[in-house]
Amino acid sequence: MASEIAIIGAGYAGMACAVELAHQCVAVTVFERSHTLGGRARVVHKDGHTFDNGQHLLLGAYTELARLLRLTGVSPRLLERLPLTLHVPRQLHLRAAPLPAPLHLAVGLLRAHGLGWRERIAPLALLRYLKRARFRLPAAMSVAELLSAARQPARLRNLVWEPLCVAALNTPMHEASAQIFANVLRDSLAASAAASELLIPRIDLSELFPVPAARYLATRDGEVRTGNPITALVPESEGFRLTGDPHERIWRQVVIATAPHHAAPLLATIDVCADLAAQIAALPTEPITTVYLAFGPAVTLPAPMIGLANGPAQWAFDRARCGGPAGLIAAVLSAHAPGDSIDPSVIIAQLEHELDRILPKPEWVQVITEKRATVASRPNQTRPGNATPRRNLWLAGDYVGSDYPATLEAAVRAGVKCARGILETLETRAGVERG
Ligand SMILES: Cc1cc2nc3c(=O)[nH]c(=O)nc-3n(C[C@H](O)[C@H](O)[C@H](O)COP(=O)(O)OP(=O)(O)OC[C@H]3O[C@@H](n4cnc5c(N)ncnc54)[C@H](O)[C@@H]3O)c2cc1C
Repeated sequence: MASEIAIIGAGYAGMACAVELAHQCVAVTVFERSHTLGGRARVVHKDGHTFDNGQHLLLGAYTELARLLRLTGVSPRLLERLPLTLHVPRQLHLRAAPLPAPLHLAVGLLRAHGLGWRERIAPLALLRYLKRARFRLPAAMSVAELLSAARQPARLRNLVWEPLCVAALNTPMHEASAQIFANVLRDSLAASAAASELLIPRIDLSELFPVPAARYLATRDGEVRTGNPITALVPESEGFRLTGDPHERIWRQVVIATAPHHAAPLLATIDVCADLAAQIAALPTEPITTVYLAFGPAVTLPAPMIGLANGPAQWAFDRARCGGPAGLIAAVLSAHAPGDSIDPSVIIAQLEHELDRILPKPEWVQVITEKRATVASRPNQTRPGNATPRRNLWLAGDYVGSDYPATLEAAVRAGVKCARGILETLETRAGVERG
């Protein structure tokens, strides 16, 4: 007799899919090749230090992730909630006011330091432009073209929109999809003050969701098998055998919840999925580097998160203000050239310039580059859906289906949507069996 459901990959997508199924009393087994849960959002232990594989920022608009955090018993206090704030030292301070949308932004802009009158009005003009278009833009339009169409002044582009675009889409604005950027603005800035809040995890990214999700599964007959890579799928009449499954079970339904570059070779093992595998393998990706600098307690930033003008890093986070050790700074470089090797002394010089002070020599430094951090959000891009040409073989992941950029929220939404697709097939089968 075939077992029910196997999920390959214990990142945010795979664990969201598993939790949603377990919540509906469907037992699942998750296979994870690593010994750490979380995939591209995971804890790293190295040289006696604990840090994430990359500094992550969440938005109040991440509603599905928030729902699953509640379901798996994660305290909301584990996320540092900040009103939307853009602080670029000596250039800009903009903080959303504690008012309902759109007043939160309007009043925030009115009170902002470092913006001329045109620059204060322009963001509202962009939102009006998008609302008039009902947030539907030509598929070929780039973010840079959108900003020109909505007459955004150059200073605002450089100081606000370009870093926001790179942070949200991990794609430079000349290459980024205006539609996907508009979707993020629709659900954050244009939605409500709460939706545009910035959320910074106070614990590591494995502990934030994947670990509580695994505990949740364990109470519902589910299982996560770590250190267990799956290398191929073998179709059988009742489902699939997984090469690497030590029990050699036949699984009725299988979800591939890996990063796209790992999904493509797994899919390619199934004949009818060859074209889909090629489409996924061709998705362009962008790197992200995080430079951790432990300066010690003498160093703090003027805000939990600051914008850094003129590159190479775009943002710096003061980890002490979100549960981390005093003086630990995380500088983030999104969408940089893939071949770049990042020299921490360049980042320290950038911080010194921006903060206008000499910094002490860091006690330790860690540079961590994820070469294929996310797929790029380019114009005219087609993303695969959850279903595949092979019945009962599914996809979940940050690159699947949603109208969001490849983020934690996109991963979770794709996982939940995949679970709902599977639940529908289970209900249909139960209906047929009942006669
Ligand atoms: C440095 C960095 C910074 C980021 N910053 C942000 C941010 O600020 N905000 C935000 O929302 N998002 C951010 N993201 C994006 C976010 O981390 C990803 O979108 C999300 O984690 C993707 O989740 P996933 O489940 O789709 O895939 P993954 O996290 O890649 O999970 C796939 C899992 O499958 C496992 N796997 C792969 N192959 C196999 C196999 N053959 N057998 C078994 N297991 C396998 C992998 O080990 C992994 O655990 C960032 C990403 C990076 C890398």
